[in-house]
Amino acid sequence: MNVQIDPKSGFCFGVVYAIEKAENELEKDPLLYCLGDIVHNSVEVDRLCKKGLVTIDHEQFKKLHNCKVLIRAHGEPPETYRIALENNIELVDASCPVVLRLQNKIRDGYQGVVEDGGQLIIYGKKGHAEVNGLVGQTGGNSIVIETEDDLDKIDYTKPVTIYSQTTKSMEGFAKIQNTIRKRMIEAGNTDPDNFSAHDTICRQVSGRYPAIGKFAESHDLILFVSGKKSSNGKVLFNACFDKNRETHFITDIEDIDTDWFDDKVKSVGICGATSTPLWLMEKVAEFVSGLKTD
Ligand code: SF4
Repeated sequence: MNVQIDPKSGFCFGVVYAIEKAENELEKDPLLYCLGDIVHNSVEVDRLCKKGLVTIDHEQFKKLHNCKVLIRAHGEPPETYRIALENNIELVDASCPVVLRLQNKIRDGYQGVVEDGGQLIIYGKKGHAEVNGLVGQTGGNSIVIETEDDLDKIDYTKPVTIYSQTTKSMEGFAKIQNTIRKRMIEAGNTDPDNFSAHDTICRQVSGRYPAIGKFAESHDLILFVSGKKSSNGKVLFNACFDKNRETHFITDIEDIDTDWFDDKVKSVGICGATSTPLWLMEKVAEFVSGLKTD
């Protein structure tokens, strides 16, 4: 049985940067708080937890004083920086540069939106840490659109400026834009200057969809390794499943059912999300390679 790890799967540079920062800090100091899971992968979170990383939520953060807190790749709203200043918290800022650029873009763009009497829309997952950080750049005055059901929140007679969360799919973003434009025209708002869309999807994620589909097609069976909370994990799993129905979602080797490996399975592909560590995919590959000799 041939076992191959997808060379394009695994941590994106934003996650690598955050984990390196955490590990560097933990070498100097045995305790480091992290605001939210450093990565949407519980196995990797457990590994860093053993080194001294303590995951906290925003309520716990507010009560902390005189300590060090890591901001993960998703970024944070201005409120978090204000609390840190007030409570003498040293922030180790590992916000991904791509997310920081988007935060700046939204903050700058928001001024123009207000002057034009328009609305700033963020296409993303409600309550997601990155989206909360983006909404914070507008003082909470943006509209988050997660599904088509949310589109009724928009006033189609007014100008619309839309940005996307970095990890959304390009197809989904294009579809939402088309629906908004259609509804604006129906509302008599036909001036093209009244609609402005900014494709702010991270290419680290979007570039993986076609590649992972091809990888899935090239194997008899796929083990997709990801944390259950990972947004891009769900999307990339579906991209594999669309191309290969023998795709199984696993978080670790305990989820593997050896019955999946019948005589017809001659090649196994192992891939994952931008939050899946390479060491975990290697562990899965080692386990699967061991099966053939049993
Ligand atoms: S997916 Fe892109 S934006 Fe998100 S952390 Fe990775 S590199 Fe940064």
